[in-house]
Amino acid sequence: MCVLFTAQLPRIPSWMFGNQFAGCPACGSGDRLPLPAPAEQRALLSDGAIIATTLSKISCMRCGVVTYSEPPSANVVSGWYGSHYTLNAFAPDADRFALARAANYAKWLSNQWGARPPPASVFEIGCGNATLLSKLRELWPSTRFSGIEAAPAAAAQARAAGFEVVTGHFPKVIPLATAVDLVVSVNVIEHVSDPVKFLLGVSQLVGREGVGFIVCPDGDRPNIDLLFADHLYSLTAAAFSHFARYARLCVHAVVEAPAEIGMFVLHILEPLTEKTAFVCDSDNASSLVLHGARVRLIEQWRQLDRKLAARLDSAIEVTAFGVGEAAAMLRAYAPLTWSMVKRCTADVVVREHFGDLPVLGYGLLRETPKGVMLLAVQPATQSRLASQLEADGWTVVTWADLVGLADTPHQKDGA
Ligand SMILES: [Zn+2]
Repeated sequence: MCVLFTAQLPRIPSWMFGNQFAGCPACGSGDRLPLPAPAEQRALLSDGAIIATTLSKISCMRCGVVTYSEPPSANVVSGWYGSHYTLNAFAPDADRFALARAANYAKWLSNQWGARPPPASVFEIGCGNATLLSKLRELWPSTRFSGIEAAPAAAAQARAAGFEVVTGHFPKVIPLATAVDLVVSVNVIEHVSDPVKFLLGVSQLVGREGVGFIVCPDGDRPNIDLLFADHLYSLTAAAFSHFARYARLCVHAVVEAPAEIGMFVLHILEPLTEKTAFVCDSDNASSLVLHGARVRLIEQWRQLDRKLAARLDSAIEVTAFGVGEAAAMLRAYAPLTWSMVKRCTADVVVREHFGDLPVLGYGLLRETPKGVMLLAVQPATQSRLASQLEADGWTVVTWADLVGLADTPHQKDGA
């Protein structure tokens, strides 16, 4: 629910000093409940790497934010993002799915900018190889674009594409001396150890009149982002509005992403003023319901391996379709199932291997379909893809129904 309050310029509260994890870092509540781990001594990073950690996260029963029960040390976190971290290091035109995704984001974000004249300046935090900036430049050709990216290879690609991009960690590095009209950040804030510091950096960049567009996974719905070890926060609108206020920003609106982008939200931020403002708040009852739904989602992922392996029914010639996020999630959290996979395939091959498995273009396999095809794509798209592959002669195994999404199994359920 949203409540009205008179916006006094906030101070960062006392629980954020000293032992900040004595209470919720967003709202300060001590009323928090633990979430189950999706696996023992096994957890997934966003680039697909698997680490030997048992996730230990907790939900706040007031604002709904999910954090680690004990946050990983700075050394551990920096180890996740070393030179081997590959999420943004593909060549910009190597993956047409990445380009299509960036085009969807550019369209969505520019629509949210509305009928105003295009921004004169845009700065992206965590711009990767500038795929999104490139798409925004097509829509706003007169705008000046710049950004910051921590991964040196991706930042170099962005500069080669003609953008003013600094290599560095935001907000330790804030390369601009003057404010910009629009600060964009897509799926970065959930990775940072201190969202308030991050938003203070955003506040500095937007100055007195700019706008911040901060996209992150939607923490107000039970979301697979809970399964990623490097997502240090799952942010609800209520939690986000608390963090924003400590950074002297106001959440002007929260907008759900269109279906083709997925379960993400855009927080539109403006500088906090003395004027009256809205803040999203939550209550214990709705946070308890959300917590219950999160527990069910994680439990479904805990059960997925056993049920899906049974569904494969000891097939010996299993091919997995997909080399993206869903494939990485199966590899991490359904290891018995994944051990039955002999090779991966995809419409477009952007890497020759996925983990230890070879990746073959689907065009090579299509003429001689053989055996079982395990779908390793997002649950929402499994039904449509299954129909196409079955028409090509494959025995297709899906699992959307095993993680609670409306879909129907394409194999006799051995679970
Ligand atoms: Zn809280």
